[in-house]
Amino acid sequence: MPTPPATGCGAAPVLKERGQREVFCGLTGIIWLHRKMQDAFFLVVGSRTCAHLLQSAAGVMIFAEPRFATAILEETDLAGLADAQDELDNQVAQLLARRPDIRQLFLVGSCPSEVIKLDLGRAAERLSAVHAPHVRVLNYSGSGIETTFTEGEDACLAAMVPALPEANAKSLLIAGALPDVVEDQMLGLLRAMGIEDVACLPARRAEDLPAVGPDTVVALVQPFLGETLAALTRRGARHIEAPLPFGDEGTTAWLWAVAREMGVDADTFARVTEAPRARARRAIAAASETLNGKSVFFFPDSQLEIPLARFLTRECGMDAVEVGAPFIHRAIVGPDLDLLPEGPTISEGQDVDKQLDRARAARPDLTVCGLGLANPLEAEGLTTKWAIELVFTPVHFYEQAGDLAGLFARPLRRKEKLRLEAAE
Ligand code: SF4
Repeated sequence: MPTPPATGCGAAPVLKERGQREVFCGLTGIIWLHRKMQDAFFLVVGSRTCAHLLQSAAGVMIFAEPRFATAILEETDLAGLADAQDELDNQVAQLLARRPDIRQLFLVGSCPSEVIKLDLGRAAERLSAVHAPHVRVLNYSGSGIETTFTEGEDACLAAMVPALPEANAKSLLIAGALPDVVEDQMLGLLRAMGIEDVACLPARRAEDLPAVGPDTVVALVQPFLGETLAALTRRGARHIEAPLPFGDEGTTAWLWAVAREMGVDADTFARVTEAPRARARRAIAAASETLNGKSVFFFPDSQLEIPLARFLTRECGMDAVEVGAPFIHRAIVGPDLDLLPEGPTISEGQDVDKQLDRARAARPDLTVCGLGLANPLEAEGLTTKWAIELVFTPVHFYEQAGDLAGLFARPLRRKEKLRLEAAE
């Protein structure tokens, strides 16, 4: 199991910033959630801006009929709340009549729906009663006023928890959306250890929704699920604390925490993990040649920053200068913080101008940040990595560990190539 550093960042002071932030809103999560939940539909109650965000982020990926849409609130709706409710009921009725494959409908709040105080919770209850039992209607907010980028998934999963069936026996629940191929790899590893009965939230289909109860243990595969974990805990579930499954070390520690909880012996665990661990180590070593000895600076964006900094420093030989996260849920990222060697500034929240000054002063080899900051920083000669790619690319567990290191190595290699070409 991972050996913690002499002094980790678990007790390090946290620089708390509460200024302006530069991140996407929680609607972004719809892009990966609609692919994961195959019979769900996401109806954003929002403005043309929300529709544009979704279309531009996901437009190229839509080949069949999409499973998300935006019910546009016009300015006139501000005056007529009752009309807005009726309009929403009509749109939902038309949608469900046209799309009998929909089993879960999410009404997703946005900045405009918040501004006009449209009560989507009440609307979801009313519509659920009308369309039950075939369709369950739930709601959550993806508004940029309330949520950042990955909090949309957290809000969506947390909204599902109260409606989950009650579990009567010991059960293992894995929370966090993974691409199907990665989820299958994870389930294959657990099965090889003898852990057969594993439920996932979100499930691919409504009929496979997990049950939860006091004998449920839950492991998270994403660090941004604070609300979901709180909702599961309220249903009696117990959290298995572990580093997040990134890289060889994180994956092994995560799997071992789950295996131990489920009564798997050390020999079985070692036998199942030996070969994929060796593959992961080889793949990481290849990509790490570029990363070794380089410095990295994380702007807060996806909440993946702390586990990724742990991976890059301990497994790829990088030095972290600053690790910024929008929120730090210690119950979730505590084990990663303990493993992250002392040294970097740990910051929570954002005051973007001050943080830009710190990045400019440090001149890190690699800066991980949102799209809005990447271009200006590149123009100043810094090398950047878009944080959003880390959420859209399969990066969890052993078979993706090399790709994860490669995502960080690529911009550094590109920069080096350009430098060499310029020197010729
Ligand atoms: S929810 Fe708010 S921040 Fe997000 S796209 Fe709509 S208007 Fe913009």
